[in-house]
Amino acid sequence: MPETSSLSNLAAIDAAHHLHPFADTKKLNAEGSRIIQRGEGVHIFDNHGRKYLDGFAGLWCVNIGYGRTEIADAVARQMNELPYYNTFFGTTTTPATLLAEKVCSHAGPNFNHIFFTNSGSEANDTWFRMARVYWSAIGLPSKKIVIARRNGYHGSTVAGASMGGMKYMHEQGDLPIAGIVHIGQPYWYAEGGELSPDEFGLAVARELEAKLDELGEENVAAFVAEPIQGAGGVIIPPATYWPEIARICKARNILLVSDEVICGFGRLGSWFGYQHFGVEPDLAPIAKGLSSGYLPIGGVLVSDRIADVLINDVGEFNHGFTYSGHPVCAAAALENLRIIEGERLVERVRDDIGPYFAQAWGALADHALVGEAVSVGLMGALQLAADKATRRRFEKPDAVGSAVRNHALANGLVLRATSDRMLASPPLVISHEEVDTMVRITRQALDLVWSEMKL
Ligand code: PMP
Repeated sequence: MPETSSLSNLAAIDAAHHLHPFADTKKLNAEGSRIIQRGEGVHIFDNHGRKYLDGFAGLWCVNIGYGRTEIADAVARQMNELPYYNTFFGTTTTPATLLAEKVCSHAGPNFNHIFFTNSGSEANDTWFRMARVYWSAIGLPSKKIVIARRNGYHGSTVAGASMGGMKYMHEQGDLPIAGIVHIGQPYWYAEGGELSPDEFGLAVARELEAKLDELGEENVAAFVAEPIQGAGGVIIPPATYWPEIARICKARNILLVSDEVICGFGRLGSWFGYQHFGVEPDLAPIAKGLSSGYLPIGGVLVSDRIADVLINDVGEFNHGFTYSGHPVCAAAALENLRIIEGERLVERVRDDIGPYFAQAWGALADHALVGEAVSVGLMGALQLAADKATRRRFEKPDAVGSAVRNHALANGLVLRATSDRMLASPPLVISHEEVDTMVRITRQALDLVWSEMKL
């Protein structure tokens, strides 16, 4: 640790040397980075000793909360025993192998294999190649195109950002790359018009069918989507959406890929988001909650349909990362999963804290600024609206969302704003009282913005 005196100018050092992800660096440097020093339970503390309730679990990932010494101990043990060895050239390590078994044990009968990566982005790039290799291996090499969704998020690598449907990302670096196309998203509040949510869910799902008609299913490898779009604004699809998507993928023989990077490992009150929605994907990228963010690790769950071909027909799959299955990261993930199992956190989200959160967060729908207050498990959103009756949006949606976020932060709560949607994703260990605090500070922030608007 640097001396306290040098900590006093850490923001200046940061401005001088550190380029942050998704940052307007000039603006950030003018404001100065906030320096987070310590975490305990659902709280983080900055370098001025200010305490915040982290309603966002870091970046949707600190599922077991901060300060779990069991993980620090498991990591230290593994570091001392074997800090690194690779999983190339016929070797493995104990934590990598045991983690593969453990993750598969929760993934359902279709999934018995995992390929390890370091991040969610790499997990998406990995299945992108794997899907094409699969179709080639079974004699259908023309099946190459991936269909994804507008406003989806699948990471920042070239394939990940291309499959994501974020226009502002595509504008930088000439994306998407060839072979990736997008269809609509199931965002009823913004785009549903006069249709009921269920009608709209079916209509957007059927855009997949229309796209397959246009492209020819013989040219399409896969459809990818998040069970609930996270970075896009916690867009919870209408109940009709996922069953129809699953039906179309099956009927038209394209792979279904469920991006579980956020929804995996308990966030929705199920081990994986596809289980919550009752669908069976062929491939599922994972990361974040796999280690609760304590160390970077991700992977792709590979269903038997794909694994059988990879194992028996492909020969060598020429893909992998120096740190695939890194033993220390795997040890952290194993301990994290032991905690999730031992404390029954998935069941807790499903049966206790998820329903409690749904009620407390849902009550914010009565606020004048809130068009809808929705959640599944511990993943929630508030849609801010200028007119609740007509679902009219604010003219400057970013401004109103960031105003609410800033007031919440000033009062000790971290929330995220995606345009005019306020996003919540607290650690799965959050208590009832802490949920009450979250909701109280959120309401206070909404009140403050509402009174500023009336001035
Ligand atoms: N997929 C989804 C659904 C995500 O939310 C994210 C990250 N927020 C990613 C992929 C990319 O993961 P990473 O940042 O670990 O590369």
